[in-house]
Amino acid sequence: VLVPHLRPVATAQVAAQADPRVEQLLARMSLDDKVGQMTQVDRGALDSPQDLATYRIGSLLSGGGSAPATNTAQGWADMYDNFQRTAMSTPLGIPLIYGVDAVHGHNNVRGATMFPHNIGLGATRDPELVRRIGEATAKEVAGTGIDWNFAPCLCVARDDRWGRTYESFGEVPEIPTAMTTYIDGLQGTTLGGTNSSVLATAKHYIGDGGTSGGDDQGNAQISEQELRSVHLPPFKAAVDRKVGSVMISYSSWNGVKAHGHRYLITDVLKTELGFTGLVVSDWAGIDQIDGALGFTGAEVAASVNAGIDMVMVPHDYRKFISLLKAEVQAGRVPMTRIDDANRRILTKKFELGLFERPLTDRSLTGTVGSAAHRDLARQAVRQSQVLLRNDRVLPLAKTGKYFVAGKSADNIGYQSGGWTISWQGGSGNVTPGTTILQGIRETVGSGAAITHDRYGAGVDGSYTAAIAVVGETPYAEGEGDRPYGLGLDREDLETINRLRSAGIPVVVVLVSGRPMDIANQVGDWNALLASWLPGTEGRGVADVLFGDYNPTGTLPVTWMNSGSQQPINAGDGKAALYPLGHGLSYAPRTTTTTPTSTTTPTSTTTTTTATPTSTTTTTTTPTSTTTTQPSAGCVATTRIASSWQGGFQAEVTVTNRGAAGINGWTVTWTKPSGQMINSLWNGRLTQTATSASVDDVGWNGTLGAGASGSFGYVASGAA
Ligand code: BGC
Repeated sequence: VLVPHLRPVATAQVAAQADPRVEQLLARMSLDDKVGQMTQVDRGALDSPQDLATYRIGSLLSGGGSAPATNTAQGWADMYDNFQRTAMSTPLGIPLIYGVDAVHGHNNVRGATMFPHNIGLGATRDPELVRRIGEATAKEVAGTGIDWNFAPCLCVARDDRWGRTYESFGEVPEIPTAMTTYIDGLQGTTLGGTNSSVLATAKHYIGDGGTSGGDDQGNAQISEQELRSVHLPPFKAAVDRKVGSVMISYSSWNGVKAHGHRYLITDVLKTELGFTGLVVSDWAGIDQIDGALGFTGAEVAASVNAGIDMVMVPHDYRKFISLLKAEVQAGRVPMTRIDDANRRILTKKFELGLFERPLTDRSLTGTVGSAAHRDLARQAVRQSQVLLRNDRVLPLAKTGKYFVAGKSADNIGYQSGGWTISWQGGSGNVTPGTTILQGIRETVGSGAAITHDRYGAGVDGSYTAAIAVVGETPYAEGEGDRPYGLGLDREDLETINRLRSAGIPVVVVLVSGRPMDIANQVGDWNALLASWLPGTEGRGVADVLFGDYNPTGTLPVTWMNSGSQQPINAGDGKAALYPLGHGLSYAPRTTTTTPTSTTTPTSTTTTTTATPTSTTTTTTTPTSTTTTQPSAGCVATTRIASSWQGGFQAEVTVTNRGAAGINGWTVTWTKPSGQMINSLWNGRLTQTATSASVDDVGWNGTLGAGASGSFGYVASGAA
């Protein structure tokens, strides 16, 4: 949908009480200086460090784990200090502000403490614990020099098919709202009040968790009443806690991209809620305003006029800078808007103390992955476990013989999920920690015998019980969208069946970012523990299994009885397998903590998806293209629309040959781990078409040298 907001607009301006240092500095800044401040560049896209000074760039980020070559706390701090020195070498010496996604601990840094992802923290219902996690994360982040954290995600995830469900504290606004204590933990009582105070970001404003079909970067087709009652409250709470920044959502609201939405950003967030901090775009988010690839001057103007103060470009910064300058010079972006954006950015830089203390406080570097932080993470893991079913088998005795199986039993990467070292997460020893298997071994000590085989091979009736640690493998963002189902994979089902066939009690530990479609199997299991994505401290899971901690976690989301119920949420009248708030203990609970209330949405959206009838995969590299003919009724083409050093644009087009239209299709892009897809043309990785005769989807990506990937798609059509 094209949304031209080209008219110069009056904007909500930061109150004049601003720091006099900001006004003095602003008076000395040229248009180049000001436009540079509004530009955020990915570290990996910076052609030369000197460009920071040449273009007066205001901010860098390390998106999706673009870590320094030496990915240690020390390596990060050295990298940061070098960039900061260059940035400050300009006549005005304005320091850089550097952002990362430390969304479950300082997760880009090898050796950092990885806490449970937000969905697990939502299960704790413990805002004070979450505040302490924010505080610990801030120390680790500040210890590597970094000033700004793109967290917390305050999305209210309404559809479990969404690949970002695990970034949500819960499906009702009360839970994310309560967990805005995380902001206090990151920033401290006053921003810059301590040496470990880090700028927090409430994201993604607004409606990211409310898109139809759980489509990442999709469209929230909801009334303003629903937007305000379900999705706005956590942001209001964040503003009340003086969150320093807000990141805009890739999603649309009723067909209009949030990145160009002046009503939502300026009228609601800045004017009505009184937000005085800085608004940052999402990664290449402005590119999506007009639905076409890349960004134009019109999109630059639309986003800045809508109220975005800093644009996460993140690649083509020279083009962004020249377009924004041109828009200002042509009068399409008012100078008052540029000044307002700069006031907001500079105010945060002054408050953080960046002018006085621009370099890393090395006294904090040793907190990265410290024993104290790992203890806190273990405590969080314990509290996040939700005991869904227990047929008198848990807690397990620390004597006997146990068989541990399942693909996630001994895998730090799997139990940590996406946003761990790399954007999509990984498998195996991506970072130091304790796997669930190791945690079980430590917990039972020499009292019990533990046998482990990933697939359950060798299990027999001589064991006291079997523990199957199964679930989802890591993903992030749209790559985790599952429009066609949330069931266990074949390996997991086979492993569990192998254990069951031994005739011993089977405890299933589900490592997943969201509820899974297990209603048809759970009746055969003796116990089910939802572990979510616990992070590096797997001992916390063992603490619950063996009774060192009596489970207190409760569901922050409604657990579907079947996949076809999606979206399913509290109060919508659908019969859940386990309702929001469900969670068993080994003994009666003595305390109840915060929020347990539920909200009834005023409207619901139903989405139907066609079932694919065939699967075809084509392989392509950034420089070549392969075409295959897929299922009956459809013709598909893949092509590299363009490519450049390290990057490419690719597209898949599916054309229906018959008269009945394309019934449904989805395209996925898979790639060697560690490589990024930077933006999505058409705004999605999967797409369903119901009536069109031609449809296409594409990506704008960056790959390492010599890399290749493959497109896989499923399509069905009537011939
Ligand atoms: C995500 C944001 C993230 C940003 C920077 C985007 O793809 O949507 O949540 O903060 O990348 O890494």
